[in-house]
Amino acid sequence: MRDPAGGGGQLVVVATPIGNLGDLSPRAREVLDRADVVYCEDTRRSRILFSACDLKARGRLRSLREHNEATLSVEVVDRVAAGELVALVSDAGTPGISDPGRRVVAAVAEAGLIVSTTPGPSAVVAALSVSGFEIERFVMEGFVPRRAGERRRRFDEWAREGRTVVFYESPQRLVTTLVELASRFADRRVAVGRELTKVHEEVVRGTLRDVASHWADGEVRGEVVVVLEGAVATSANAEAVRASLVEELSAGASVRDAVNVVADRLGVGRRAVYDAALAIRSERGS
Ligand code: SAM
Repeated sequence: MRDPAGGGGQLVVVATPIGNLGDLSPRAREVLDRADVVYCEDTRRSRILFSACDLKARGRLRSLREHNEATLSVEVVDRVAAGELVALVSDAGTPGISDPGRRVVAAVAEAGLIVSTTPGPSAVVAALSVSGFEIERFVMEGFVPRRAGERRRRFDEWAREGRTVVFYESPQRLVTTLVELASRFADRRVAVGRELTKVHEEVVRGTLRDVASHWADGEVRGEVVVVLEGAVATSANAEAVRASLVEELSAGASVRDAVNVVADRLGVGRRAVYDAALAIRSERGS
């Protein structure tokens, strides 16, 4: 954020707590205190945040949701162009991530005006960080589709996805989704982050089969994020990976080409195939 006292308008994307109010950063608080206007989703939710953090709303809260985001984007651009400090928050976490905000940001940026951020909480990053899985590369899938056909296509993609997959799910549908996924790849590991940063925070880790049966009565309370480990070479397909790699390498392929060919052919994550290729190479002493 550019010092607001220095003059000139800007839009600041402000991350707010996903549960624990102590996670509102001092910079975020400063922006919310000084902003000329604060665009939020539900003004009642934001008013609760303001009063809990001892901030005064002073009539500055405006509701911005999917249905009015396009219209309000024009208003935000005008305000920033006129020199105002405009803050953008969502109900919780980082605006724009499965929340409104992306269009406003795009409009202000396209107008050549300043868009800044006070970064902070996001359920996605929080869940990934405690999963213990490979998170150098991950794919965020938002909410799981509800329609059968879309779900099937999405789950087909995940069957081959080598990167860690993270997605939101409602507590009411969590068990159904886990059971459906377990019916496809029961041994794949998963970490479910529930009520992160709140009093009843828990992270349930295990195979899909185990975690699906963790909530045996089907009743899950609170908010959840699911982190699914990428497709790795399980013992069942490790032999197939090895045999294909040996074939490719013996035919003169480079390690890189062999890994790409085998990963695509068997639908296994590149990292796992690469590790297998390195093991073969070191066995061969080359
Ligand atoms: N933009 C937000 C963010 O960056 O965290 C996410 C908005 S999305 C509409 C809300 C979803 O995030 C919830 O349905 C739930 O899946 C997840 N979520 C939010 N807070 C959470 C928490 N404290 N623990 C676990 N999941 C949470």
